[in-house]
Order: sequence, then structure tokens, then C-alpha cells
Amino acid sequence: MDDHVRIFDTTLRDGEQSPGATLNVEEKLEIALQIERLGVDIIEAGFPITSQGDFDAVSLIAGQIKNCTVAGLARGVAADIDRCWDAVKRAASPRIHVFISSSDIHLAHQMRKSRTEVLDMTRAMVARAAGYLSNVEFSPMDASRSDPAYLCEMLAIAIEAGATTLNIPDTVGYAYPEEYGNLIRTIRERVPGIHRAVISVHCHDDLGMAVANSLAAVRAGARQIECTINGIGERAGNTSLEEVVMGLRTRRDIFGVDTRVDASQIYRTSRLVSSRTGMVVQPNKAIVGANAFAHMSGIHQDGVLKERSTFEIIDPKDVGVADSAIVLGKLSGRHGFRQRLEELGYHLDGEDLNRAFLRFKQLADQKRDITDRDLEALVSDQMRTDDEQYRLEHIQVVCGDHIVPTATIRMLTPDGTVVVQTSTGTGPVDAAYKAIDRVFNLPVRLNEYVVQAVTAGIDALGEVTVRIQHEGRVYSGQSANTDVVVASARAYMTAMNRLLGQKADLGANYAAAQASTV
Ligand code: MN
Repeated sequence: MDDHVRIFDTTLRDGEQSPGATLNVEEKLEIALQIERLGVDIIEAGFPITSQGDFDAVSLIAGQIKNCTVAGLARGVAADIDRCWDAVKRAASPRIHVFISSSDIHLAHQMRKSRTEVLDMTRAMVARAAGYLSNVEFSPMDASRSDPAYLCEMLAIAIEAGATTLNIPDTVGYAYPEEYGNLIRTIRERVPGIHRAVISVHCHDDLGMAVANSLAAVRAGARQIECTINGIGERAGNTSLEEVVMGLRTRRDIFGVDTRVDASQIYRTSRLVSSRTGMVVQPNKAIVGANAFAHMSGIHQDGVLKERSTFEIIDPKDVGVADSAIVLGKLSGRHGFRQRLEELGYHLDGEDLNRAFLRFKQLADQKRDITDRDLEALVSDQMRTDDEQYRLEHIQVVCGDHIVPTATIRMLTPDGTVVVQTSTGTGPVDAAYKAIDRVFNLPVRLNEYVVQAVTAGIDALGEVTVRIQHEGRVYSGQSANTDVVVASARAYMTAMNRLLGQKADLGANYAAAQASTV
């Protein structure tokens, strides 16, 4: 049997359905490009019929991704399929993913259709998609709670109508590994023409079984796994990509299959998705959590120091985890700094290197030990702020329990004007944001604000992620600093710059601002 398991990443579709994880078009493209680098086989870029924004994102991604298939999702409805085709047709390798419910519960309460009507729909809609392209995936929604005989009948019809991938979703996260594996076996045994199609699985983590169910399905013959980075997704989320991929790889003795994934890109992809979606990764998360490779017990530490494999089944470097050991300090030179950055995959030259080195020296004054994670935070912070139109030059905040929190900011505008603004607020961050708001004078709502420590220790860098909303669109910003108020203000500025970059009427609004100039 085929020993290649296809990895179908749905971070941008099911993952984006996580509450609060909304991404804008630029963020989706940035994530798609990193997921392509990670080496997945298929990227499900969105659900084009749902909004213009989703359509634009799928279309943009389809035009830029070269090394993997780009799929769009569509209900079993003609308009969905047509719209989906319009969005994916520019792709080097496009796919339409059609879904129709198969369980009696869904048929009775959601679709209000008979079994026969739904089979007719399946035939017609899969054929409609197959009329546009040859790469069609069909999903009977809620498959794991469907009557197996009816499910098999539906799958046979889908194959006949042109489906080349049959996905068996455990939509509500109800299945258990043995049961789910048996369902896959039943399908392989009973569905006519099944050898012509790839069997796929799509599991949810409502009972914490998504990864286990996906792996049981691979044992039973499934050759595509649908999953998301960090396991984000509807409710309790989806199968976590990093966990299934490392499971297949670490226990190749059991599974005997491979994926195309370049594991060394896993950690970087996880960080990117976490920062852009604002969905924080729990510290004890397998593979990518902050503690995933931390050994606390004395016996374990002793063992790992003597021989890593005594208590470690995966070398953190294999998944691209930056070493959290101290790498640089106050006395480190420019050469060592540059060399370490190169090892981490950042190639900085000339003025960029000078500025990064200056920031490193400033950080070393505030924080005794600098780790790889600090360097990553510092460099990605610089890369983010590099093309900013409006720059925050200074921020000063006064706060405490017997004082009205007050912030003063000094900002450099694109035409070189220096603007100073002051505001009070309920706290230091609120005061800072209100001072910044006074410069731009735009109605902006703060949807989300998250602070995370980059490393352990009282002097750690604080990384702030904000999501702001303006005229129905969401913009995110992020910044890292040893002072969380400074990081908060800079993250807000990053988000504002992204917002303003897209606003045509900037001039008028800016002129309306009551700003003082020095
Ligand atoms: Mn799902």
C-alpha cells in the first residue's frame, strides 16, 4: 500500500473558525507561505462563499502557492461550488472540497431532506465540481455518527461522480480510536471503486482524541490527514499537525509511512500562527509548548545530561525549537551576534544589522542573559517595524495606585513631523492607547490584548499581541520589550500602521487630529 500520508492543512479554514482567531488577507498569505515552506501537500485556504474577504484570501493564496495544492471549501450547493472554483482556479494545483451531511440527525434537523434526496445532491454536486477540475474532495459531514451502510452508499456515488479524495469527518469529536479505525476499514472493504480514491480523515478534539483517531485511521488505511497548526479550530480544535507528523515520524516502526513535512519548520510555523491568530499555545502542549522539552526532575536532568535519549524521544532541534540556553550576553560582540542570527535563519546586513545589534546591546543592558528566543523576538520585532509609516519615538507613562495614569507619546509621521500627545486612562496601557488614538483620530475598537513572556525570569521580554477593528476589518500587531507598557504601545502602533496602510482617506483624518508639534 501507498506509504505516503498526505498532510492537508486547514489552519486557514477550520483553524480560523476558532473564536477570536480571525485573520486578515495579508496574515493569511503570510501563514500560507510558511505552511508551504513546512512542506504540507494541501492547504485549505478558506471557504470562498462566506465573504468577500474569504474569497480574496483564497484567490490570493491560490495565485502565490507553487509547491502544494490549494483547496477551497464549498457546501453541496451550486453557488458555493462555482464561487469556490473562481477562487482556486489560479492555483498551480487547485482542489474543490465539497461537503454534504450524512448522519440522520443532520438530515432530519439541519438539511430537512430524505436520504434519497441527499444522495441525488451528492451525485449532482460532486459532478458539478468535477466539471471544473479533476481534483475533487468529498466530505460526508458527521460521518462518524452516520449509518455505515448509508455512508458507504454515499461514498460510492461520490467516487462515481468524480471525487478523488473521500474525507471521513468526525465533525463533532465523538469517535474513539478503535471505533474510528474500524469505520475506515469498513469503508475500504465495502465501497465500490474505493481503491481509486484517497481516504482522508478530519478529526475534532472534543474528547481529546483527534490525534489518536487520526493515527488509528492511518493504521486502517487512511492516506490523508486534515489538521491545523497548534490544533486550533472549531470548539476544542482539530488534529494538531505537529503532533500527528511527529507521531508518524517517531513511531515509524508502528506506522511505516512518511509525510513530506520538513519538521525543522514546525516550531517557527507554530509561533507564527500563534502570534497572528492571538491564540496562545499552552505551556504543556506536546511538541511546541514552552515546556515540551523542559526536564525538571533531578533524575531526568541527570539522565539527559549524560545521554539525551534517556528521557527524550525527540531532539528539540528536529522540530526547530530555538535553544533556550543562554547564548549571548552584554560582552558578546557583533561577530558572535551576527553568526548566531545566521544560525537561526536570519540574514541581516549593513544598516539592518547595525540597528539589530544596537537593540541587542540595549536589551543586554536590561536583561543579563540573552537566549535564542530573545533574539528571535528582537529580530522579528525589527522586521515588523521596518516598513512602518508612523514611528513611535518615545513613550512615557506615570501610574500607580494614588495617581491618575497618564501617558505621553512622541511620534514621527511619514513627512517628518514630530507629534506629541498626552492622555489619561484607567491604566498605563489604556492611557498610552488613548494618546495614540488622539494622533490618528479614527474609530478603533480593541478586540483582543494578550501579554506573554518570551522566556522565564523576572527580566524576560514581554510579547504583546493586539487585535484592533476598524470598519469591519481586523488588524493585528505585535511587539516585544522588557517593559510591557512599551511593548503594548508598539504592538498597537504596528496594528495602526497596517490599518492606515490600507486607508485611502488618511490625509483628511490626520489633518483633523488635534496634534501639537514640536
Ligand atoms: Mn471541522
